[in-house]
Amino acid sequence: MVNFELSKKQQEIIEKYRDFTERWIIPNRLKYDESAEFPWEIVKAAYKEGIVNGPIATKFGGNGFNLLEGALASEELGAGCVGIGICIDANTLALTPLLIAANEDQQKKFFGQINEEQGVAAYCLTEPNAGSDVQGIKSTAIQHGDKYILNGHKRFITNGEVASFMTVFAQTNPEKGSRSLTAFIVPAGLPGIEIKPHLEKMGQKASVQNEIIFTDVEVPVENRIGGEGYGFVFAMKTFDRTRTGVAALSVGNARAAYEIAKNWTKTRIQFGKPIAANQAIGFMLADMATEIEAARLMTWYAAWAFDTGQRILSKLSAMSKLYASDMGMKVTTNAVQAMGGDGYSRDFYVEKMMRDAKLCQIYEGTNQIQRLVISKAILKE
Ligand SMILES: Cc1cc2nc3c(=O)[nH]c(=O)nc-3n(C[C@H](O)[C@H](O)[C@H](O)COP(=O)(O)OP(=O)(O)OC[C@H]3O[C@@H](n4cnc5c(N)ncnc54)[C@H](O)[C@@H]3O)c2cc1C
Repeated sequence: MVNFELSKKQQEIIEKYRDFTERWIIPNRLKYDESAEFPWEIVKAAYKEGIVNGPIATKFGGNGFNLLEGALASEELGAGCVGIGICIDANTLALTPLLIAANEDQQKKFFGQINEEQGVAAYCLTEPNAGSDVQGIKSTAIQHGDKYILNGHKRFITNGEVASFMTVFAQTNPEKGSRSLTAFIVPAGLPGIEIKPHLEKMGQKASVQNEIIFTDVEVPVENRIGGEGYGFVFAMKTFDRTRTGVAALSVGNARAAYEIAKNWTKTRIQFGKPIAANQAIGFMLADMATEIEAARLMTWYAAWAFDTGQRILSKLSAMSKLYASDMGMKVTTNAVQAMGGDGYSRDFYVEKMMRDAKLCQIYEGTNQIQRLVISKAILKE
């Protein structure tokens, strides 16, 4: 049997995140879109109200969300501002390798630290020569006694300049290449870490990205996550769990753009009737509403499949991220088009939503890479 009815707890999550979004994110989204600064005031408020660290166990100060609950939360954040939403969700990306493989002591220490500091963490995978091709990572971490000496160059690291610690992927046995990739928790204050000024970019401007150079950084052995050589597996398992979050942010962003376009086209009169009364525009709105619904259902299904252990998640989470972020780009572009000059102006936010949508097709694996993941999975079936 299939039941699409949300439980009381799930509805409460939606209400709580929607209420926070209305009070904190929507009134401030243009300010951060213009300043391109990290929204500390919002992240601190989010901590106070229990909005951050959704999937972290409640005993460590999180909400203990499963993937579906996380998706409900992310859709609401995305409906306010994907850039601010990702400041909260990128924390989840950085902490997920610890959720998957850190021991109890590491979880207690680092989840405890992040909650106590009301801080954020960063996920350091990408390098100048290793973007889509994660196996091309060249950073090294070579063990000397009770320390690993970390050297390398990471790029596009979300939360880089504001992180309390970073989850870093490096080779521990360079001759074995990607099979020697290992994950580490690297405190941001260690000597030898250089963080470059943040990237200037098209959208999601509240979220910051930095290049980070590691030169002979001494990382204690007890900061290694799991065994040597498991880094690639942990990185991929992390994306399996976080791509439904990107999908949900995309759905929220598209929903917000659609609502604005719908209301605008119902009231704007040209040729003596509302713009929405023209079939060309009415059909555009119909497609938007349909595709948002389809993307949401696909996202919920992928999350539910993981939560109930029923299906291979890689394929479904890649499908949800691919479909929802492509849908988000299309819907926000059409929202701008349906509203003409007003859509293109800064006054109605849909141009920002269109700029924000683009990045969801790129990070956590581009949509070409999602198609690779999906095609590999379906050809094996
Ligand atoms: C704003 C932002 C935030 C980010 N945050 C983080 C973060 O927090 N941590 C982190 O580690 N990384 C982060 N990234 C990196 C992001 O995950 C990569 O940008 C992404 O995986 C693509 O890598 P690339 O940019 O090097 O593109 P490339 O790998 O150079 O790809 C360029 C183009 O080629 C296509 N392509 C590549 N290989 C194939 C193939 N085999 N078949 C078909 N097409 C292919 C790609 O789809 C893309 O269109 C972020 C990036 C951005 C822009």
